[in-house]
Amino acid sequence: MMRVISCVTVDHNLWLVLVAALVCSAGSWATIRLFLRAHEAGDLQQVGWNFLTSVCAGSSIWCTHFIAMLAYDPGVPITFDPVLTIASLFIAITGTAAGFIAATTRAPRIAPIFGGVIVGLAISGMHYTGMAAYHVAGIVEWNTTYIAASVLLSVAFACVAVKAALNVHLSGRNYWAAAALALAIVSLHFTAMAAVQVTPMATRGTETDTLALHAMALGVAVAGLIIIGTGLASYLIDDRTRSEAFQRLHHLAMNDTLTGLPNRANFNDHLDREIDRARELGGKVAIVGIDLDRFKEINDIWGHGAGDQTLKNLADRMSALLQEGEFVARLGGDEFAGVKRMKSQSDLVDFVSRLESALFAQVRFGDVETTTGASLGVAIYPNDAHNREALVNNADLAMYRAKANITQHVCFYEQAMDEAVRATRTLANDLRDAAENGQLDLHYQVQTSVSTGEVRGYEALLRWKHPTRGNISPAEFIPLAEESGLILPLGEWVLRTACAKAASWDHPYKVAVNLSPVQFAHADLPKLVHEILLETGLRPSRLELEITETTIVADKIRTLNILRRIKALGVTIAIDDFGTGYSSLETLGAFPFDKIKLDRSFISEVETSPQAKAIIRAVLALGQSLQIPVLAEGVETHSQLSILRAEGCNEAQGFLLGRPAPFAEIFAPMHRDAVDGAEMPVRQAVA
Ligand code: C2E
Ligand code: MG
Ligand code: MG
Repeated sequence: MMRVISCVTVDHNLWLVLVAALVCSAGSWATIRLFLRAHEAGDLQQVGWNFLTSVCAGSSIWCTHFIAMLAYDPGVPITFDPVLTIASLFIAITGTAAGFIAATTRAPRIAPIFGGVIVGLAISGMHYTGMAAYHVAGIVEWNTTYIAASVLLSVAFACVAVKAALNVHLSGRNYWAAAALALAIVSLHFTAMAAVQVTPMATRGTETDTLALHAMALGVAVAGLIIIGTGLASYLIDDRTRSEAFQRLHHLAMNDTLTGLPNRANFNDHLDREIDRARELGGKVAIVGIDLDRFKEINDIWGHGAGDQTLKNLADRMSALLQEGEFVARLGGDEFAGVKRMKSQSDLVDFVSRLESALFAQVRFGDVETTTGASLGVAIYPNDAHNREALVNNADLAMYRAKANITQHVCFYEQAMDEAVRATRTLANDLRDAAENGQLDLHYQVQTSVSTGEVRGYEALLRWKHPTRGNISPAEFIPLAEESGLILPLGEWVLRTACAKAASWDHPYKVAVNLSPVQFAHADLPKLVHEILLETGLRPSRLELEITETTIVADKIRTLNILRRIKALGVTIAIDDFGTGYSSLETLGAFPFDKIKLDRSFISEVETSPQAKAIIRAVLALGQSLQIPVLAEGVETHSQLSILRAEGCNEAQGFLLGRPAPFAEIFAPMHRDAVDGAEMPVRQAVA
């Protein structure tokens, strides 16, 4: 009797069908994961991931097919052609590799379809090659309609799978793609099996044959699952490593490495969130800009290690005092910021006073114990500003106000601060045009010998006649010029003008020119000085450059090197405003200055304050022992001059001896007597 079989009519071994379904779904899921990983990876890694994807896909398809073939009992003896069986596995692996690689080429519209078609054809090719390897003892007939339908279904589902996997807008795309891929495999298999009809020509095999076939199916399933599992494990290990690396990078990107506090980016995010929250719930947010006062000094005196230790200590302390709704970040250098979610002013006052206690407590490094102190500026949302940038800006303005005020550590933002800043900016703009508009001029102030009254030289002092505000003091506009960088062209102009004028004087007096620390930091000063001396023809020994201690503290090694090169030209160097800096003795030891200019604050108090007198005496003694002449600045009275003479001061400068005046006034022939007259008090005092 003839028995017609097809996959729909023959009894399947149910548990093997379930195993095939398990292999198919697990394989599809793993394949899609690996495919997406390959898609994200860079060049060489992509090759590796593509390999794993295709091995996983090919094994899943092949194992599903093979187990399913073994799952049903055709009732006749079956054999497998080994070459074709292996070839079918090879087709599955290489075909899916080609498809998945093609799907991700640079043609995002058609590549997924193209890749999907190849994957679908690979599944079909594998199946029909596998069927060719499947030999049954019977007559096999094929239904071409079913064959065409099976290929079409496989191709269509494979296209859907690839397209879904690559669609970033599709939520749960992994699952949709895996389901479509599984359907591509399963639909092909069952439709293709419906296409084949076998008319048995022999009797069924023995029970032992069936058991052997089932054992083989199980073996294939286990091998397939191991391959799929290996691919999946690689994916999971990589995924874990990547997520850990991502977390580490995220932590690095959002936190300061030295102190561990949140950094500026983190602060910005946090503040944005707090402002949004306050906007929605109607609360307030305060930010506190914090700048350490003496951090630079700690760095300069005790080194960067001590500076780092200080920052860490302060950061730890501030972190420890934080309560619910509070946040502290390090914005850079010695700049920190606090954020406080607040309901009432007292919340804020409490936060600020806790911050103050942390910032003003002693810090220790090694045997040293000191305090840095800090300036704090507070601005509140929504009172002072409505967005993050404006709020931060206003807190900064308040902080600068606190910095400028030595009695007040904390300042709250006020509208008037904006106006002050605007006025400063306008002035800086005016200064930019001042040189071109001929509003700048140099005045000269005489420097004389205390014992003989003889003129030693003149200090050039910059003057700015503003068109509407009149004369503006250099004490006001020099810092502005320094902040804006204008001091570089301005300083060069002063140096060139002073040297040119001095070269034209009848008497070879010295001319003293003030230099800003900014000129040391940015210009090639020795070269500039040399060029100007050559250009103006002034003898180098007639030029004296005045620098302050701040210049040296800013970058000691570099500054001293520049000073040495300038001195090598034959130019002398004076230290200006001596006694007002932090480390006067150290400064003197570091460089052989040609003159110490003792700050006028000591001279103005010499008659009334024994301390001021003691300091003058000490500096004079120091000058004597180091063999550096001392000039007293700001001498206004005869009695001051007498004291200075009695103490052995070398030179003096001040209103008593001559006020700063324009070149023409001092050196015009008709005024020459007046200048000589200015020397009179000295002579009289000598007499
Ligand atoms: P400085 O270099 O210490 O200059 C001396 C200042 O003391 C001058 O102020 C001078 O007018 C003032 N002075 C002189 N004698 C007396 C006195 O007897 N009593 C009083 N109360 N003051 C006296 P000025 O011209 O206002 O300059 C202030 C500062 O501006 C200068 O201090 C200097 O640091 C800076 N400066 C002036 N011109 C320049 C310049 O061309 N470049 C740079 N970088 N700074 C300059
Ligand atoms: Mg000076
Ligand atoms: Mg001075």
